[in-house]
Amino acid sequence: MIPQHGRPTDEILEELTKRGVDDTDWRGGRVFSLVYHAGAEHEEMLKRAHALYASANLLNPLAFKSLKGLERDLVQSAGALFNCPGAVGTVTSGGTESILCAVAAYRDRARRKKPWIRSPQLVVPRTVHPAFDKAAHYFGIELVKVDVDAEMRVDARKVAKAVGWRTIGIVGSAPQYPHGVIDPIAELGEIAHKKKVPLHVDACVGGFMLPWLERLGRPIPPWDFRVPGVTSISADLHKFAYASKGASLLLWRSLDDMRHQIFVATDFPGGIYASPTMLGTRPGGPIAAAWAAFQSMGVDGYLELARIAVGAADALRAGIRDIPGLTLLGRPDATIVSYSAAGLDIYALADRLEARGWSVDRQHRPSSIHLTVTANHAPVVERYLADLRACVAEVRANPSLAKSGSAPMYGMAARLPVRSLVAGKVRNVIAEMYK
Ligand SMILES: *Cc1c(COP(=O)(O)O)cnc(C)c1O
Repeated sequence: MIPQHGRPTDEILEELTKRGVDDTDWRGGRVFSLVYHAGAEHEEMLKRAHALYASANLLNPLAFKSLKGLERDLVQSAGALFNCPGAVGTVTSGGTESILCAVAAYRDRARRKKPWIRSPQLVVPRTVHPAFDKAAHYFGIELVKVDVDAEMRVDARKVAKAVGWRTIGIVGSAPQYPHGVIDPIAELGEIAHKKKVPLHVDACVGGFMLPWLERLGRPIPPWDFRVPGVTSISADLHKFAYASKGASLLLWRSLDDMRHQIFVATDFPGGIYASPTMLGTRPGGPIAAAWAAFQSMGVDGYLELARIAVGAADALRAGIRDIPGLTLLGRPDATIVSYSAAGLDIYALADRLEARGWSVDRQHRPSSIHLTVTANHAPVVERYLADLRACVAEVRANPSLAKSGSAPMYGMAARLPVRSLVAGKVRNVIAEMYK
């Protein structure tokens, strides 16, 4: 209830702080994907930059020229980083919004250029982020999902076969989220070029990691605008750019491509309404904080964080490789680690790790555990590996752990063949939370 009488500021802030104490411990490196933390000082800087523009609204770029300028700076900086200094684009509220905007634009591009397509298809890897499923669901598009090889890269020959006259675009990830593997973007670019369809690269997690890894001398396969067929790239600022939450970029090679992203309503009594993104009101805080993150880190800062993160990821991989029964998945393209287990239940292992205070990302197809590794995880690598060794021993000694805790539920959700049944059950669980 809204209190009848307003409360004092100190009391309110104290209550808000208190309400957060039982949340997952992301500052301590126990969470591996939800938060990208670059230290207390950086966090404080972000908060102050955010606060300066917390009430500003990029819905009207003429009224907030400052925000339009910050957006332009972010787009230009990212364009240069992704090797297309002339790239254009928009800031969005997150990877999902970047992807929704890209898919909507691809659909409208097809509507204008190929009006005979009645039921549009988007060709994507099986490992593509569910934001594409969401976009397809919202916009009436069919996703054609293509298999991946043993290293979890999409099979380019199968992509070529899947592209047909109804195809409105192709998607590859750099890297995909589950196993951190970069799809063969150069080959996808050739297919896109030959078949004259646009190619979107989802670099939501990799956009602000791969360029630094490349400069550190890691072998990064081509994934950005250097690949001729690449039309657009999504890259999250609130991930490895260490911005505050609510900021991502959607970049286009040319304004001609981007044009299809711009929505205009002309009959609203409130006036002509034009908007390039999903949101109406576009909060200024996350844009200012993302700009501040670029300025505060600089290339040096990002390189240093990438060096520490990749060191931590390599150390985790080496440690996991040495534990009998565990297998690393994919390839070490990025600072993402995932592993599966043989001869022991991975979901029972996940429960044991959680009992020791780790926030665990459980995956399926194949059943595995995911770690998005940032610089903030370097100090916890040894503790994680020690706990992992102990937990593997516990599950080995007591296989019935697979029948307790949350393990059976995850196991069933992973194996049940009727996916609509799983969806129905999960929908009920979520609905229950809103009762
Ligand atoms: C995180 C992520 C997304 C979605 O981003 P949100 O900011 O969570 O909406 C899309 N694709 C990939 C590869 C990601 O890692």
